[in-house]
Amino acid sequence: MPTDNESNKLDLCHIYGIEDAKEAYKQLEVEFVKGYGDETKLEDGTLLHDNYECDEGYRVLLRCKSCGVLLLCQVSSYFSMSDGPDGYYEDIIPVWSEEEADLLNTLLGPGEFADHPFRHLRGSNHEYCWTRGEQPHPMDIEKLKRSIEKKYKDKLQRRKG
Ligand SMILES: [Zn+2]
Repeated sequence: MPTDNESNKLDLCHIYGIEDAKEAYKQLEVEFVKGYGDETKLEDGTLLHDNYECDEGYRVLLRCKSCGVLLLCQVSSYFSMSDGPDGYYEDIIPVWSEEEADLLNTLLGPGEFADHPFRHLRGSNHEYCWTRGEQPHPMDIEKLKRSIEKKYKDKLQRRKG
């Protein structure tokens, strides 16, 4: 795994070079890698969190067809309270390995996913934008595991006990 910033930058999906978010979204062609469903649970069925905000949704791992970078995506849909159309939005965050994607999926609740500190692409049926934030870089896998253990300590302990 590359450690210097220059290499990390090269590993980012090509859409990061496109400042116009709508154009970036248009030029993003992906293939499906795997789905995480609408909930994240422990093996014994204990619910950790939903995988969407609002009314329904899911998370998927996708791969950019152009550059092969993995992208973790959360899709959230909401039902219109009036006669207007229903809506959705999705957050697309680059990851460097399937393991990193799995760990991030486990760690991040729906709101935390949408507010991920990495600058990432957000699409909806209304508009596209780049979120503010730091340049994405590979996460420390061991640190992610520790964060998960810390965050879900009670649920993980109950399973053991
Ligand atoms: Zn790409």
